[in-house]
Amino acid sequence: MMDGKALAARIREEVAAEVAGLSPIGLATVLVGDDPASDVYIRLKHKASTEVGIVSRDVRLPAATTEAELVERVRELNAAGSIDGILVQLPLPDGIDEARITAAIDPMKDVDGLHPFNAGQLLLGRPTYVGATPVAVLALLDAYAVELAGASAVVIGRSDIVGKPAALLLLQRHATVTICHSRTRDLAAEVARADVVVAAVGAPGLVQADWVKAGATVIDVGITRTEAGLVGDVAPNVEQRAGLLTPVPGGVGPMTIAMLLRNAVKAARYRAGTLAFPAS
Ligand code: NAD
Repeated sequence: MMDGKALAARIREEVAAEVAGLSPIGLATVLVGDDPASDVYIRLKHKASTEVGIVSRDVRLPAATTEAELVERVRELNAAGSIDGILVQLPLPDGIDEARITAAIDPMKDVDGLHPFNAGQLLLGRPTYVGATPVAVLALLDAYAVELAGASAVVIGRSDIVGKPAALLLLQRHATVTICHSRTRDLAAEVARADVVVAAVGAPGLVQADWVKAGATVIDVGITRTEAGLVGDVAPNVEQRAGLLTPVPGGVGPMTIAMLLRNAVKAARYRAGTLAFPAS
């Protein structure tokens, strides 16, 4: 089992030491509406930020907020001198075009890497900001020294926030990458070829033990709330087949929070000019 919790704790300590040597770092989150899962994520992000000395601003807007009002709030945060990084929690309520909102964020403050400029930089192999979850996937693979160059990697899920950027990061590390999704014909056969499997769907127990190549590394990004607690996309008996596997909870989740903190430090460096942000 890959211990995301322990690794995340180490990274948070590193971030805290770095933050102590910098001017105050401001991270703003924007939550529209009262989705309970989003509320939990936002709370975790603020708690973790505060613990490492990052100053977080929790912007909460009613579910009835219009797209134009939200764009206006984002622009205020773009202009705010005390704010280095901005994260708009997704999903947004119906009627708000997420693409319009992410495109309104100043690319230099876009810690989730969703602005077309930052997403494009990743596509071109010159990453600036990459979202915390895909970076967490790579950090876990690196921490356990999983060989990626030449390896066959299967990413299940093609969202802009997890699947696509995770696949691009793996490609950048010279893996042979297959992206699977809801229309994939034979998911079992695709998974069976993989040395590395990244499951980011939100379908409890989707990945079965008999699909997985013996000794493969399996990263379970999925989180579904059930009466029995949080469960991932990977069936429990995969533990017997996989060489390495991330638990849910305690795998990608805590690492995602740690990587968001790292992205906030990056934001402060970009704004201070100690790290060059490419011209957009
Ligand atoms: P999403 O709903 O945007 O995307 C899901 C993807 O899964 C889609 O691309 C879809 O094509 C694919 N899919 C759906 N059913 C499938 C099937 N039967 N077979 C193959 N592919 C299928 O979700 P998302 O935002 O990418 O999140 C994915 C999961 O990861 C969710 O469970 C989410 O809660 C979790 N998540 C966890 C973290 C974390 O920190 N651990 C962060 C973000 C998301």
